[in-house]
Amino acid sequence: MDIFKPIAKYLLDPLYAFHEDSSHPEFSEEYEKTQFMTKEKIADQQFFLLKNMLIHAYHNCSFYKNRFDQASFNPFKFYDFDELKKIPTLTKQDIQQNLEDLTASNYTKDQLLLNQTGGSTGSPLKFYVDLQRLHSRKASTYRHDRWAGWDIGSKTAVLWGHQGDFLPQENWKTKLRDNYYERKLFLDTSSITQEKMSAFVKQLKEFQPEIYLAYANSMFLYARFIKENNIKDYNRPNAIITSAEVLTPEQRKTIEEVFECRVFNRYGCRETSIIASECSEHNGLHISSEALYLEFQQNGKDVDVNETGKIIITDLLNFGMPLIRYQIEDAGAPLAGYCPCGRSLPRMDISGGRVTDFLVTSDRKVISGASMTIYFIAVINGIAQAQIIQNKVDELILKIVKSSLFSDKTEKEIALKIAEYFGTNMQYTIEYTDNIPVTASGKYRFSISHIDPMEYLS
Ligand SMILES: [Zn+2]
Repeated sequence: MDIFKPIAKYLLDPLYAFHEDSSHPEFSEEYEKTQFMTKEKIADQQFFLLKNMLIHAYHNCSFYKNRFDQASFNPFKFYDFDELKKIPTLTKQDIQQNLEDLTASNYTKDQLLLNQTGGSTGSPLKFYVDLQRLHSRKASTYRHDRWAGWDIGSKTAVLWGHQGDFLPQENWKTKLRDNYYERKLFLDTSSITQEKMSAFVKQLKEFQPEIYLAYANSMFLYARFIKENNIKDYNRPNAIITSAEVLTPEQRKTIEEVFECRVFNRYGCRETSIIASECSEHNGLHISSEALYLEFQQNGKDVDVNETGKIIITDLLNFGMPLIRYQIEDAGAPLAGYCPCGRSLPRMDISGGRVTDFLVTSDRKVISGASMTIYFIAVINGIAQAQIIQNKVDELILKIVKSSLFSDKTEKEIALKIAEYFGTNMQYTIEYTDNIPVTASGKYRFSISHIDPMEYLS
């Protein structure tokens, strides 16, 4: 028996909550119950929270005060979900241009955390999350991880392409926390080589995680590495949670075959954390409805069940910087009916999202397209949207939509970043365009590769 598991759950987690003054245990207890409330009760609670947020935003954010007044929307007379449609949707550009006016005036900067998205569907977005919201986000993550069989203290391997999300192992205190409380093994998949994959096999065998949390593409590539190299002795977790990238049915099949366990797909974003996750039924994703209100729309109208629409999110709990009717630029479909798992949280399918193929560098290293949205595009000024296409090794095509910050420096920065990540021998051409369209199913293809990464990993 793993004695550190109950220690993490019953001793370290409450201690951490006390030390950090975190209310995640209270949210966690609540979310374990609310997921089984009736649909009607969940809707009632959402309506209450939504009205509360609308009034708060009207009072404390000059952006929303102006926007509601212009739309003749009175939050005090909000009696029906449908009235919400009077408010124009909040675009990424709105946030980029109005960060301070969107921030609640009754919050000070030390009550807020500044966060930033990558550039997968455009240029990076800076936004604030209030500290209390971080606690409910943590509780929501706990709850959704539990659906895959995780619990506090479960050893988890994180195959992730963004090192910024890794817990820094700074001193003995943080090391103790990581080893005995968080119990996570971080494996960096932003760039991958054959040696690195072999090291993953060894590290995972030693660590013996129960759960993997992974970028979908990274997980698929690791599964293929094991399969195609005929490796027999490797760690098989109890469940795998995939996130951050679109998971195709083919990828799911391969991952489940290789690791002999189920994949629990997840949809989330940095702005709101977990949006929806699969339960043990694997029939759609339950929405985290205690904290988020989702609309699925086409041409300004709600779509029917099972029909794909643009996803519009309202965060019901981020009072520091309210996100009301936020156009996340993903597509999905609302699902109907009850789930046999007994949870009444509404379900959805995610049909669109970020498609990020792996790319190959001039020195034959395989790098994660999803990571490039963070390390490459997000740090260059002047790019509104980008797409990297690789038809052959040693050659890239960059499609770029210029932003208002574009200048002579932008191309120089691109050249430096290409050399840094893809090697000095990488040839590339830049094609400027007005728009990079999403695919018919709502997928935004950030990187498109016609090269099989496995050729360089086996
Ligand atoms: Zn379910």
